[in-house]
Amino acid sequence: MSRKTLQPSKRFIWLFASVGLVAGLGIVGAASAQRPAYPAPAAPEALSVGPIRLFPVQGNVYMLTGAGGNIVLSIGTNGILFVDSGAAEMADQVLSAVRQFSRPLTRNPIRYIISTSADTDHVGGNVKIGAAGRTFTGGNVAGDIDDAAQGAAIIAHDNVVLRMTAPTGKPAPFPFAAVPNDSYTSEDMKLSEFFNGEGIRMIHTPAAHTDGDTMVHFTKSDVLATGDVFLTTNYPFIDIERGGSVNGVVNALNRTLNLAIDEFRMEGGTLIVPGHGRLCDVADVAYYRDMVTIIRDRVAIAMKKGMTLDQVKAAGLTKDYDGRWSAETGPSSTNTFVESVYNSLKLKK
Ligand SMILES: [Zn+2]
Repeated sequence: MSRKTLQPSKRFIWLFASVGLVAGLGIVGAASAQRPAYPAPAAPEALSVGPIRLFPVQGNVYMLTGAGGNIVLSIGTNGILFVDSGAAEMADQVLSAVRQFSRPLTRNPIRYIISTSADTDHVGGNVKIGAAGRTFTGGNVAGDIDDAAQGAAIIAHDNVVLRMTAPTGKPAPFPFAAVPNDSYTSEDMKLSEFFNGEGIRMIHTPAAHTDGDTMVHFTKSDVLATGDVFLTTNYPFIDIERGGSVNGVVNALNRTLNLAIDEFRMEGGTLIVPGHGRLCDVADVAYYRDMVTIIRDRVAIAMKKGMTLDQVKAAGLTKDYDGRWSAETGPSSTNTFVESVYNSLKLKK
């Protein structure tokens, strides 16, 4: 081969080598871009103890069911954060399950409890779980009065503090240790530190289930904990005595839909943990929002026609949804739900 024919082929070798190098760097770059910045230890399998189930949701976030309202947990190198603490009588079982489950993920204590409302099935565990915030560290607790401040921080919207410290007959007064020791009055509040590698935002949804509802957004794990503005078990419980309203619930559900991003056709992407019921995605919230909006509008039309509460109740305006959402009795029964829609629209007038 002459020198003239050798040179172009050499050039091709260099060209292929360079292209290969650039492609290789691209793959490495893409791989490091995909790698989460927060530590992602192997997620434990689901844990079942008695009525309690604890399982991974996404990222650092885990869900605990069977203790009253759903509990959402961030578990990682900085410790443990609870969204809600379940019913008081379940607190020991919750603590024992969380200790067992979190052992491979962290040795740090419970740092925070965020209360989504003042409901007893959501704040009932505040005393015991809050106090366990210091004992999780083990060893360095002297047990004197100064250590009382070392329990987990309990955070909620200020209206939750007001409801818990000056209850108007319901629910029963709470022990002081159950009341949030940190509160916010603005539209939302960010947790003051990056926790387990992500920012955590508390969002106030005004006058919805109550006047103190908080939704919690785990920004990197991409999980929303809604509290009782969204349920998969029943019609929403709109507590008018404690400042709830049907329009507030619809607004809260729309806010959830604004924050959540689906991966494909309303499935996947942001995962949403309701106050009660199963793990959800955008589609579930959209369906629930539609249901509440449609029933609200039917009641509003009936009211415009001058129908009384009894006539609205008798009109069967929820019939097509009752099979899925109605409870026989209690705050989520058809009668109570329709009555709360009627009364909150009447109050609005
Ligand atoms: Zn609840």
